[in-house]
Amino acid sequence: MARMEELFGSNVFNDEVMQRRLPRDTYKALHKTIADGRPLNPQMANIVANAMKDWAVEKGVTHYTHWFQPMNGVTAEKHDSFITPREGGKIILEFSGKELVHGESDASSFPSGGLRATFEARGYTAWDPTSYAFIKDGVLCIPTAFCSYGGEALDAKTPLLRSMEALNKQAVRVLKLFGRDATRVTPTVGPEQEYFLIDRKLFDQRKDLIFTGRTLFGNKPPKGQELDDHYSGAIKPRVKAFMTELDEELWKLGVLAKTEHNEVAPAQHELAPIYAITTVATDHNQLTMELMKKVALRHGLVCLLHEKPFAGVNGSGKHNNWSMSTNTGYNLLEPGDDPASSAQFLLFLTAVIKAVDDHADLLRVTTATAGNDHRLGAGEAPPAIISMFLGDELTAIVDSLLADQEYHSAQKQDLEIGVSVLPKFPKDNTDRNRTSPFAFTGNKFEFRSLGASASISDTNVVLNTIVADVLMQFADTLEKADSFKTTLHSLIVETLRKHYRIIFNGNGYSPEWVEEAARRGLPNLPNTVSALPRLVDQKNIDLFARHNVFTEKELRSRYEINLEYYAKVVNIEAETCLMMAERQILPACIKYGGELARTVNDIRTAGLEPIAEARLLTKITERNATLYAAIHQLRKVIRASFQSESALENALHENNAVIPAMNAVRAAADDLETLVGKEYWPFPTYEDLLFNV
Ligand code: ADP
Ligand code: MG
Repeated sequence: MARMEELFGSNVFNDEVMQRRLPRDTYKALHKTIADGRPLNPQMANIVANAMKDWAVEKGVTHYTHWFQPMNGVTAEKHDSFITPREGGKIILEFSGKELVHGESDASSFPSGGLRATFEARGYTAWDPTSYAFIKDGVLCIPTAFCSYGGEALDAKTPLLRSMEALNKQAVRVLKLFGRDATRVTPTVGPEQEYFLIDRKLFDQRKDLIFTGRTLFGNKPPKGQELDDHYSGAIKPRVKAFMTELDEELWKLGVLAKTEHNEVAPAQHELAPIYAITTVATDHNQLTMELMKKVALRHGLVCLLHEKPFAGVNGSGKHNNWSMSTNTGYNLLEPGDDPASSAQFLLFLTAVIKAVDDHADLLRVTTATAGNDHRLGAGEAPPAIISMFLGDELTAIVDSLLADQEYHSAQKQDLEIGVSVLPKFPKDNTDRNRTSPFAFTGNKFEFRSLGASASISDTNVVLNTIVADVLMQFADTLEKADSFKTTLHSLIVETLRKHYRIIFNGNGYSPEWVEEAARRGLPNLPNTVSALPRLVDQKNIDLFARHNVFTEKELRSRYEINLEYYAKVVNIEAETCLMMAERQILPACIKYGGELARTVNDIRTAGLEPIAEARLLTKITERNATLYAAIHQLRKVIRASFQSESALENALHENNAVIPAMNAVRAAADDLETLVGKEYWPFPTYEDLLFNV
């Protein structure tokens, strides 16, 4: 136990280290800067940088890096050593405040969607002091934001910080009206991460896994998840060893890894951390994904973070548990235990409901990737239609509020907002609807549509901004009100009535829901190419501009990047599919057919009729022809890729022509897999991959 406590955060320049190593004044000033989200002054930066360097050097560190998150979903680092030349051919180790606070980076090889013309190929990185510096692989990592010289955001962190600021500003305005003395509101996130572990030797034999992270071929094994024996079942020794080491590595980095368990599919697992403020949760989730991959290799395993590594088997997502907390220690989505707190809770709840209904399209956009297209709406993940689940009790309260307004609104005016004290809501699994994309779970909302491999940044940028926008409207109304209570009551009731359509407590997997949602007018954006264009709808451009989260230029660049990224991912899959079908699968099937043909002749020579052999040969030959034709068609559509100037046109081509052509190749190949002898098949099958850890 003592060891664990010592281990935790041992590689983090956290508050405790700062307190120990910084002069009292500097520590206090830095602490205040971080708490208020303000920039650091240069003298302070020098002192902090020097203390950070000494601390790191004592731990054997020689290099530092500005660790940032460009718009390709991963993290980037460029290592610089601390050395500075000194007279006499010697060196000293130095790290200045300037180097801590501000870095330069050649931005030209990161996606920018036209934001950065080639003549200004450099971008700069700036320390985000809300996220602690840490040591990873012997390098001091400074979490930073990444911008162009024009100040445009080139990363996932800058808009996140801006959206947190927007939410803070509006939430504090609302709290003031309730007489609260909170001066800062911060969104909090706990992302639950799903993943698969498979044997490395088997992984290495599959080009699709190597190049695309998912299998492009393969039939479901005879046993899948139907017996429900994997979920929270006993953890196998090799997986257990992996989890133990992963936990330790994460703890060293101050990541609050809390729960590790098996998931529904064979070889699938989940890790949940304890929640943190959004920037930290985002950084930590990136680190978690990175370490999952690294630690797996040390155990002869490969960690797959793809949203759908195996067709027909449960996919992997990320549950984004989200709430808001005040610097006075309150969770704004925790139902209070006195009338005023209950009213306040209901107002924030109503704000989230309205935000999600007004901007369901944007939330959907943040989950739209080539990988997640295989998962959303596949009957095991939330549907592509965004709706909200409130649970029985909260729905009953909402219903009674709406009913009261209709029947005796006049008499209710004084009773706060119609409910005196709210009951505590159950937080256990009994009152859960697993099919809902956006569920209230006791004291937070859980958005379940995120893909396993994506950064949680985009989703939280949108969540923070859309809730900020509604809180701004609420604050505008309430600040002007003659009677706070009356206006509050009607604001809540009217808003709930208007947005009631987003609440759905039924089965989100059922086909009836698709029809019902259409009747309610909820957007249904089934795939990436239908979702992404919504990002640049005028209403969304205006929304982000209003809260200084994205300029129109930044938003359009992100739109372009996402479209290009989508098209590239599908194209890599198509090329890999073609290569495997043409050079591995078809040759194997031809070989098997040839063997059969020889056998047929041998049997005939022996004076017998090769009934089974001849029929099988016919089947194989026919199917080989189908596969051959499908390969031909795939090659044709791949050639027609990236022919347009328009990123949308190129993405549409991948969606409309390339994916169907790939599916046809796969169908033919999977069909052959069921007929061709196992030892002829050129790579490990689903059974091999899923049951060999
Ligand atoms: P489960 O969803 O598996 O039942 P929990 O409800 O305990 O698990 O928590 C799921 C995740 O939600 C955890 O990461 C937890 O830290 C996070 N969480 C709990 N409270 C909050 C909050 N106020 N804000 C954000 N995330 C939270
Ligand atoms: Mg959960």
